[in-house]
Amino acid sequence: MDETTFSQQRHWLVDRELRNRGIRDERVLEAMKSVPREKFVTEDLKDRAYENRPLPIASEQTISQPLIVAIMTEALELTPAARVLEIGTGSGYAAAVLAEIAQEVFTIERHPGLAESSASLLSELGYRNVHVKQGDGTLGWPEESPFDGIVVTAAGPKIPATLKSQLKIGGRLVIPVGESGDQNLVRTTRHGPEEYETEDLGPVRFVPLIGEEGW
Ligand code: SAH
Repeated sequence: MDETTFSQQRHWLVDRELRNRGIRDERVLEAMKSVPREKFVTEDLKDRAYENRPLPIASEQTISQPLIVAIMTEALELTPAARVLEIGTGSGYAAAVLAEIAQEVFTIERHPGLAESSASLLSELGYRNVHVKQGDGTLGWPEESPFDGIVVTAAGPKIPATLKSQLKIGGRLVIPVGESGDQNLVRTTRHGPEEYETEDLGPVRFVPLIGEEGW
């Protein structure tokens, strides 16, 4: 498949599967029209890159379903000046979507191989505003905190307290919570130093968040 075909498929995906299913934030839709998802999957899966589905990547992990990436990114309500933290870099796809919208993206991946391959892919694609680190993301990135938005792309047993504490006042944390088969996406907004509001955004399915404040 050539570049033009991928680009057409990408536009169809955004219009049919994202816009028609309720994604309203134009910046999110534009970002997803720009990021070449086929570059984030293995050769054998490139022709399926624009199906609205999660797909397997290395280290037994997955690249999230495009609609879920859109829902999570929209829920962060980012401005162009935003500094964002992502936990679970995986393929680097969601980090690239965030980097199209926000000013600076910090992303942490537990698997050394994935951290390395996504960092080199993102740099190859020209994303100079993404910083990839290998480590346990449940502890956040204290040196770069506080953040306007934090997004966790793996499901934990609870909302990590350390991540909440690394939000700016007014910042939002989006994270799937619960055991495999019974997970919900939640959004926590920090209204004051000790004041947080949590909303339920609906059922989802993610790989487990493994770490000190994870499973
Ligand atoms: N955002 C990714 C989705 C990857 S799946 C994408 O767009 O492709 C979730 C990822 O979270 C996996 O790669 C997994 O290794 C990673 N992960 C799980 N627990 C983690 C932790 N404590 N810290 C950092 N990454 C973690």
